[in-house]
Amino acid sequence: MSSDQQIHSANLHFNAHGTPVAEDFDDVYFSNDDGLAESQYVFLAANKLPSRWRAHSCNSFTIAETGFGTGLNFLASWQAFDDYLSQGSANGAQQLHFISFEKFPLTTTDLAAAHAHFPNLTRYARQLQRQFPTEFRRGCHRLTFAEGRVVLDLWLGDINEVMPTLPNNTGGIVDAWFLDGFAPSKNPQMWQQSLFDQMFRLSRAGASVATFTAAGLVRRGLAQAGFTVAKQPGYGNKRDMTIANREPNRVSRPDTTDQTVAIIGGGLAACLTAWKLANAGKQVVLLCADQQLALAASGNRQGALYPLLTPNPGELSQFYWQAFDLACNDYQQLTAKTDRIRHQWCGLLHLNSNEELSRKHSAIASHNYPSTLIQLVDANRASELAGIDIPHSAAYYPNAGWFCPGDICRFIGDWLIDNGHDVRFDWRVDDISRDNGYWQLQGKQSIKAKQVVIAAGIDSNGFDVSRHLPISSVRGQVSHVPVTEQSSRLKTVICHTGYLTPSDHDAWDGHCMGATFSRDNNSTELLDEDHQINLERLQQALPESALPQDWKNSATDGRVGFRAVLRDHFPVVGPIPDWSSVTKLPQTTQLSELPHQAGLYVISGLGARGICSGPLAADIITSYICDTAHPTSQALLDAVNPGRFVWRRLKKNRPLFD
Ligand code: SAM
Repeated sequence: MSSDQQIHSANLHFNAHGTPVAEDFDDVYFSNDDGLAESQYVFLAANKLPSRWRAHSCNSFTIAETGFGTGLNFLASWQAFDDYLSQGSANGAQQLHFISFEKFPLTTTDLAAAHAHFPNLTRYARQLQRQFPTEFRRGCHRLTFAEGRVVLDLWLGDINEVMPTLPNNTGGIVDAWFLDGFAPSKNPQMWQQSLFDQMFRLSRAGASVATFTAAGLVRRGLAQAGFTVAKQPGYGNKRDMTIANREPNRVSRPDTTDQTVAIIGGGLAACLTAWKLANAGKQVVLLCADQQLALAASGNRQGALYPLLTPNPGELSQFYWQAFDLACNDYQQLTAKTDRIRHQWCGLLHLNSNEELSRKHSAIASHNYPSTLIQLVDANRASELAGIDIPHSAAYYPNAGWFCPGDICRFIGDWLIDNGHDVRFDWRVDDISRDNGYWQLQGKQSIKAKQVVIAAGIDSNGFDVSRHLPISSVRGQVSHVPVTEQSSRLKTVICHTGYLTPSDHDAWDGHCMGATFSRDNNSTELLDEDHQINLERLQQALPESALPQDWKNSATDGRVGFRAVLRDHFPVVGPIPDWSSVTKLPQTTQLSELPHQAGLYVISGLGARGICSGPLAADIITSYICDTAHPTSQALLDAVNPGRFVWRRLKKNRPLFD
């Protein structure tokens, strides 16, 4: 991993009581006596939990913690939230969002050893251990438990560097703070004024703070940041601890009580967004223009799942690396529920089949990404992994694979219907207009909703309200070639300047060989010349001996799709600008200040990467709509902001629209 991405695991030992002790701080992670009781007293009870969950007027309650450590506070909160939910609270919080920061994450082995102290928490601890990251990428790792009722955002890195990168919502994001961390005397580097200031920045009106320490510098720091600070008796033989509050003096949260969200689209972006919003407590109406889901760009039989890494380790790589981690987690959860989603975690080899690819992969490898993400392999190893003769070295993505995107869509569609949501087919939206605080969607009938997500692929900028989004369409033709004795040996996805999937023996006797990339061709017909292009590219990448002779005459079947793409290779994910107001803005306006059309969002431009970027993009939309914490840094949120193009023109004093 490049040095700025690198996070080291915790350096610890277990003392005579079996309590973990951090070597670098010479301090315990939790009390030798009864860590769980202390956590419940200091953090839960002092923040008035669970009674505040009962009185909470929004679906989601957010706790933020400084120092994840063993996750004891998280597990204790999850257990308390579970107890609270089991008492059948129809009102009050229904989702617990737990944000935590950690500079030195524990390995899964150390976590498990620490958790062994708390047998009452075992059922929660096991789930945490199962999902806990094994590669410590800087930034947010979002883990989702209990069908989305518990979300953990684990932000890795030094809290004083990471916290300022967190996007804030207008009314803040945090309801309660667990101000933990080793004692201020043992870890002065963490307990800085900037930490308290950041806590205040992210706090909602009425947010509370609880911490085990009564150190003067902490009390003064919280007060200086703007909190009202008090002391109360500490746990056990500790005399005092500190509590604090942000007065309810900031703008209140936007009204999220209207729970219905209309989603326009029937592909992967639309379905994943619907699934996430439904899990976050929204009532979803999915409007699919076709008679079935996934008939457009998401209709390919097999699509590769792997991250887009660039030679320059900038925001594009960061976005796709994070997206890949999240997608792997989400798809593991989905495929654990059903065997209807065809897929294979078979790994992917991107062959160094020309000079440019060789140079690109060497540059990527020089950034020392973890070997579980990407590794360079020679031709022998590539052949071994692929199961066929490969004449090139390659970049190997061991955790990659392929998925049938349509299966994901269909599974989610049925799940939505089974869970009381509204999925309508053959329902093309022709017009979107504003009417009395609602969006009016006009199709064969008319539907009103306060919140609307346009997830219509290349048609996403086809409405008056979205017309300035510079989404373009790129035709891609995939060829279907039959499995032969020879090709059935292929074990991984192969990419070169095109790609070839291993056969899915259970579903169909074929491979997907793709795909062409044509900007100026709108033909929906299968073209022979495009089959030839796919075949020729594969012929250039593989030796004659590895290619079944049959394929030379057989590729007449296939599929045409149109990818939605943006010039800068990022998707568009977020609120749609209010185009007419933008024209009146000064050149100095910040991207985050761009006015939006209230309640109108877009998720599009996922290009050929939707299987990878779809889950993260859907989470971003869900955070906007539910007014919850975002899963990415502000920089990545800006990178996908639908207003970025018009804003760049504004900054350069160029005409805003074409
Ligand atoms: N809340 C934890 C639990 O439930 O197990 C215990 C936290 S432990 C006392 C303090 C944690 O803060 C350690 O895991 C440590 O690595 C982390 N930490 C210390 N300094 C930090 C910093 N500057 N940024 C982020 N995390 C930090």
